[in-house]
Amino acid sequence: MADAVKNLRIVIVGAGMGGLASALALAKEGFQKIDVYEYAADLGFVGAGIQLAPNMARVLDRLGVWEPIAKEATNIQDTSIRQGATNEELGHVELGYIEKTYDYPHMVGHRFSLANSMFEGCQKEKAITFHFNTKIDAIDSFGPNPVIVATPRDGSDPYKVEADVLLAADGIKSNIRIEMLKLLGIDAQVVDTHQAAYRIMIHRDQIKDDPELLALLDSDTVVRWIGAKRHIIAYSVDNKNIYNLSTTQPDTNFAAAPSATYTTKGSKTAMLGVFEDFCPMIQRMLNYVPEGEVCEWKLRVHAPLPTWIHNTVALVGDACHPTLPHLAQGAAQAIEDGAVLGAALARLPDTSPESINKALRVYEKVRKDRAEALVELAAASGRTLHLGEGADKEERDKQFAALKQGDGKVPDKWADADVQKLIYGFDCTKVTQDSFDEIFNSLSAPNGLSSTNGASDVAHI
Ligand SMILES: Cc1cc2nc3c(=O)[nH]c(=O)nc-3n(C[C@H](O)[C@H](O)[C@H](O)COP(=O)(O)OP(=O)(O)OC[C@H]3O[C@@H](n4cnc5c(N)ncnc54)[C@H](O)[C@@H]3O)c2cc1C
Repeated sequence: MADAVKNLRIVIVGAGMGGLASALALAKEGFQKIDVYEYAADLGFVGAGIQLAPNMARVLDRLGVWEPIAKEATNIQDTSIRQGATNEELGHVELGYIEKTYDYPHMVGHRFSLANSMFEGCQKEKAITFHFNTKIDAIDSFGPNPVIVATPRDGSDPYKVEADVLLAADGIKSNIRIEMLKLLGIDAQVVDTHQAAYRIMIHRDQIKDDPELLALLDSDTVVRWIGAKRHIIAYSVDNKNIYNLSTTQPDTNFAAAPSATYTTKGSKTAMLGVFEDFCPMIQRMLNYVPEGEVCEWKLRVHAPLPTWIHNTVALVGDACHPTLPHLAQGAAQAIEDGAVLGAALARLPDTSPESINKALRVYEKVRKDRAEALVELAAASGRTLHLGEGADKEERDKQFAALKQGDGKVPDKWADADVQKLIYGFDCTKVTQDSFDEIFNSLSAPNGLSSTNGASDVAHI
């Protein structure tokens, strides 16, 4: 890579999954000036489990941060889909084949271990500077040299930051996306899914006298209990010291009290009420959650965007493709974004804004259709899992019955071999490396991307 390209000023807003992966991928490619601005004082809320799919592992391994994550993660061997009301198994799928097929196993782990390993990887890179506790308050210009306004939360004066490339990895509520859409006159909105999620962690010592739950904790199985309009997915994390549960249910609490953060302290009684017709074992399991530790998330997505790119600014992760969690691919897709951005920008022939814009459009070409297809697939899987009584449910349950005979598709798309092939079989870095020149050369130069275009009045966000 030419020195001028290496010295491009890359500014990343957000140190979540997409921001950390982007910073690390760019540093590994040799970029020298990467600044990450993060609102939170540290890595923020990371107290939950997360699925670590092979497409995520492949990227993290290349970035040199997979090993510590894998060390304490659980290597999933199978999944069991059960009737929530009875605990009766509807379908069972062996997943041991995944490692042989895709070179990485399907693991589940602690979100902290994932975020922290990427963060530690970043800290080893001299090129990356973190600015925690700093809110990006405004966008002064969308380029060709984007300018943002950073406000330290310690009361110091706001200051402007100019970049050559601005990556907005600022999550589902992305202010930069809002401003970009406004500037481009695009009317696309956050979509309320009317679903919410509890995230629950049960520690080994809490269930030490409960052999049935201990057996689940000691297993290498992802279990999903389903019922009308809701389900619970559960697995062991933290070297099997914690049983992690993530639920989905109708969003009734937020509907009554909208929250700026999309999270709320939930009531244990309300949580038990949501699952009151699930089997006694599940009732017992949920009862282990200490009062005061129930936290509920509002689940939102976004209408597909016509573009993720404007001038030399790109949206990353949940800022451009937020998803329901039913395929367990949100973080994995944000991490793929980072890998593709690294591979695309490393192939820049020069530092002109036109070339940067085209390289970012290569990123968009490789990523957008794929990410949006998975968002739709996750929503579809949720609809199938949450069916109430009726013909559609009967049809779904026939599919589960066929599965028991070793036949057909898995209605829980996450566990379906064809869906897994689509998701895990795609090497996003290699695809970018192999197709960069062809895509880059096929793109026309952006209209009127000159040194003054895109400058706007300060947009306060
Ligand atoms: C219940 C649930 C379960 C899930 N399970 C899985 C799973 O098993 N596997 C999986 O792959 N994904 C899962 N996901 C999805 C995953 O958590 C998200 O898709 C992923 O965290 C998105 O990463 P991101 O970097 O785009 O956004 P975020 O992780 O939200 O990061 C955005 C960052 O930007 C910062 N920020 C925002 N605005 C500003 C500003 N103005 N100035 C400075 N900083 C700012 C925020 O503080 C934050 O740190 C799940 C999600 C939910 C809700």
